[in-house]
Order: sequence, then structure tokens, then C-alpha cells
Amino acid sequence: MNARVVVATHNAKKLRELERILSEMVPGGAEGLLVSAADMDLPDVVEDGVTFAANALIKARAACQGANMPAVADDSGIAVDVLGGAPGIFSARWAGKHGDDAANRDLLLAQVSDINAPHRRARFVCAAALVLPDGREFVEIGEMTGRLAREARGEGGFGYDPIFVPDDQDFRQGPKTAAEMSAAEKDAISHRSRALRLLAPQIVAALSE
Ligand code: IMP
Repeated sequence: MNARVVVATHNAKKLRELERILSEMVPGGAEGLLVSAADMDLPDVVEDGVTFAANALIKARAACQGANMPAVADDSGIAVDVLGGAPGIFSARWAGKHGDDAANRDLLLAQVSDINAPHRRARFVCAAALVLPDGREFVEIGEMTGRLAREARGEGGFGYDPIFVPDDQDFRQGPKTAAEMSAAEKDAISHRSRALRLLAPQIVAALSE
């Protein structure tokens, strides 16, 4: 099958996750339906939006224009209540260097070290955008609520997962961080899968036009 949707990511795991979600909704499955921006040699764009939704749209618009096909993009981060929603769109480079996950986690934990459990509320937020060649645009937001742990625990996941305790879990087995969950457990409750699930009907509709 020729690919019909470009996904504006260089991350193969994100491509597979969208493929899994779509495969439950597309008659005949989603195999071969998606192609990544990296595979199409599309250039990176400057993400100068100030919201997750704006940045997801910037990436999807650029990929749609570059590939001349429907494009999906996401943008995500962690928002801590007591910090007024920070790190937010600056999550990937909170400690200064883009993608230094350990430094980002250490800085965030240090910033809230005096804050007690009831006030350690935080959420992961993901905006997922679909842009069509005829100019139509769709954006959906997914969230995973929880609280910041006192210290990092767990080897799974990435980014802030080791210091984030999702609400949506069975606490009888003790509080797990997102990094202590299996990929399937996290997928079931994650901000990204929620946003993509909300967007999936629009993607399916675009494919059937
Ligand atoms: P991006 O949208 O994939 O570029 O993610 C932005 C940043 O937000 C990442 O570098 C991580 O620091 C953080 N982040 C987003 N989603 C997650 C997640 O599911 N777990 C942990 N960190 C995340």
C-alpha cells in the first residue's frame, strides 16, 4: 500500500504508536499507511509557537506542505501546577540543553523540593494535529494527570517518566512512576495516546475521502 499520511516525527516509536491506534479503527489495518517526515527527508521546522497546539500545527503544516499529503504531528510536555504550568513547552530543554532528560528531571525536582505531596500535582499534556492538503486543520489535546515523585524511580519510558506518578493506576500495589509501568500500561493512559485516539476519527475520515 502507498503511504497516505505523513507523521512529522523523527521518532520511530511515535510512528508505531499511531499505527497501533489507527489499526484498531481502519478497516483492513494501518500497516503501510504511515510514513515519517524523516523517511521523506523533510527538513526540521522552527517550533516557535507558545502552546502545545500551536507547535503541533506548525509541524503538521510544514509536513503537509512538504509531502503534499495529510500530515499528523504532536507536541507534548509536562506542566506542574505549583509552577504555573512550567516547564510546559520548554520541557525538552528545561535545564538548558535540548533533550538532557536527567538534567531536566534533577532541576525540576530541586525546584519543588520544599513542596509537600498535596501540592505536587502535575500533568503531561499532548496536542495532536492533523493538517490536510486542502487547508483543513484539526487539533486534539490529551492529558495524563498525576503528581511529582520525590526521587526518580524506574528504567522504562523517557523524559520525566521516572519522576511522575500517574493517577490512573492500581495504588494497591504501591505508587508506580510512569517509568515503572510497562509500555502497554503507559500507552493505555498516556496523554499522547489520548490525543491520538481523539484525532484518529478525523484521520480515518480523511483517508476515506
Ligand atoms: P516531544 O513532544 O516528544 O518533543 O516532547 C517534549 C518533551 O516533553 C520531552 O523531551 C520530554 O522531556 C517531555 N515528555 C513528553 N512526553 C513525555 C512522556 O510521555 N514521558 C516523559 N516525558 C515526556
